[in-house]
Amino acid sequence: MSKTASKTASKTASKTAIRTDKKQIPIAEGLFAWPSSSPQLIGSRCQGCGEVAFPKQSGCPNCAGDSTEEVLLSRRGKLWTWTIQHFPPPHPYAGDLDAFVPFGVGYIELPEGIRVEARLSLSDPEELEIGMEMELAIEKFAEREDGVELMTFVFQPAAT
Ligand SMILES: [Zn+2]
Repeated sequence: MSKTASKTASKTASKTAIRTDKKQIPIAEGLFAWPSSSPQLIGSRCQGCGEVAFPKQSGCPNCAGDSTEEVLLSRRGKLWTWTIQHFPPPHPYAGDLDAFVPFGVGYIELPEGIRVEARLSLSDPEELEIGMEMELAIEKFAEREDGVELMTFVFQPAAT
């Protein structure tokens, strides 16, 4: 693994530009249903007690039952709490450390009754407010050395 190769990555990576000429893959399998103009997170629901979990789990964290089904979660929720991540998370970090820019992290409360931890599309505290309506989006997280773009899910202020 080369550390220096990452220096060639753009220092000004735009978080909104969608390059369709590049191969884009989810940062992890089974996290969200995509490509789609209406992406959704993939969770699980316990067939015993109805508890919903994200990411999906084969066992229920509530009743320890082992019978769960996959469910697509609501695209919208309310910002329950948030913070700004000013430093790269501890190793291992899949992103480009040289190109790191602070980003918002929050918990989104979904109608299913769970709170999902997620990156936020915004990093400006002035634009974030607890209780605001948020909506799921898929965004570029990093670019591999072979040019493949790793996509992750974020929540952005919902269009009204
Ligand atoms: Zn259960």
